[in-house]
Amino acid sequence: MTEKCGVVGVSLADRDAARPLYYSLYALQHRGQESAGIVTHDGFQQHSHVEMGLVGDAFDADALDQLNGQAGIGHVRYPTSGGVNACCAQPFSVSFKSGSLGLAHNGNLVNAAEIRSELEALGHAFTSNGDTEVIAHDLARNLLEEDLVRAVKRTMGRIHGSYALTIMHDDAVLGVRDPEGNRPLCIGELDDGYVLASESAAIDTLDGELVRDVAPGELIVLEPDGSGFDSYQLVERDATAHCFFEHVYFARPDSIVDDELVYDVRRELGGELWAESGIDTDVVMPVPDSGRSFASGYAEAANDDGADVEFAEGLMKNRYVGRTFIMPTQDERERAVRLKLNPIKSTVEDKTVTIIDDSIVRGTTSTQLVDLIRDAGAEEVHVRIGAPPIVAPCYMGIDMASRDELIAADKSIDEIREIIGADSLSYLSIDAIADVLGRARGDLCLGCVTGEYPYDIEGESTDRDVSRPVVGSESAPADD
Ligand code: SF4
Repeated sequence: MTEKCGVVGVSLADRDAARPLYYSLYALQHRGQESAGIVTHDGFQQHSHVEMGLVGDAFDADALDQLNGQAGIGHVRYPTSGGVNACCAQPFSVSFKSGSLGLAHNGNLVNAAEIRSELEALGHAFTSNGDTEVIAHDLARNLLEEDLVRAVKRTMGRIHGSYALTIMHDDAVLGVRDPEGNRPLCIGELDDGYVLASESAAIDTLDGELVRDVAPGELIVLEPDGSGFDSYQLVERDATAHCFFEHVYFARPDSIVDDELVYDVRRELGGELWAESGIDTDVVMPVPDSGRSFASGYAEAANDDGADVEFAEGLMKNRYVGRTFIMPTQDERERAVRLKLNPIKSTVEDKTVTIIDDSIVRGTTSTQLVDLIRDAGAEEVHVRIGAPPIVAPCYMGIDMASRDELIAADKSIDEIREIIGADSLSYLSIDAIADVLGRARGDLCLGCVTGEYPYDIEGESTDRDVSRPVVGSESAPADD
């Protein structure tokens, strides 16, 4: 399971934006490893460098030196819609009658095909099959008739789905978050400018201060001289649909997402996991890396409760093996788990062990882990998961798995326990997630754990009264 993308935008007073963008992308590398790109503007023209690969491989000093200008946007990508190839790498840039446009997108539109057909019928030629190009063309078309703010608003009225965008129109850098706030986006202040980023860790990397999250439905326009920003609340909704998995898994623990430090949230979720389904074993072990904060919160709550559990880092991770989901076949995925994790025998031998992870997707990793720990001599192996069972796919930009690959889609918890070979298995409840995040269930996206989505997705049910905007000749013009 992986996040698809990270976005950033920078506007500075008197130095080039390329290096701050590059460092920010490094900080967001966990959000996408397939391609990396930066587009800058020097007041006269756009400069772009987009390559396949990790940030460190995509740029060298020469490439950064050629990205002139004090304003720019950047992107790291793991393929969402559009496939794995260079033409879908971002930022997407285009020149048109009223200037140049660069776009970096995190999320996934669910009505891109409809808008694309409409634009194709109007003569727009597309170079990729990704949804970001659809947004770029729609915005370019609206910019021919409207000012910047109204053009963005009109596009927001037509696209449906999940999006956190950084946009560059000539040398103006913009940030937009979809009206449900599904994917994160925040604003930071630097000594000499402002930054927009998917996660606050990118702002920290630049020695900046987090100002706040961009609100759902809000447009932020950074001043081209780095002196400030303007805010426009373009769309209001009664409820949000923040992706709860950002807190559980995707975001860095040192990031603040929607006002909550991810590390604190995960520790608290670990405490709730103990409260709901704790089991008194000799050892509690995280599955590295994402299970770590859950396990420390779980062990602390257990010991506060009078249990005597040892928190042990008993699984060692080989950091040079790619994530298991990159392996296309089941056989390769299974081997990758063995390559990636190795138990420290003395921490588990002749002991009862609880392993804590953030999620179970296909079940492959959990099965292998339980096996590894039993082989290392554990007497009992219990599994606790810091999220509810994943029963349905994600359409909002997370590469999860299809329904028939998800182990929990059609199996009970006890059937899963049997498949992975654990002595016991429990998941965290949805209510605990909502409580810890301090939000009503209706303000979260819970699509992958309920099968009901906050967007109108073909063939799926919704958890609220929502429908796709009408596109084509009947579409409504932008309001004032
Ligand atoms: S379906 Fe799941 S992973 Fe996708 S946005 Fe919603 S909560 Fe996040």
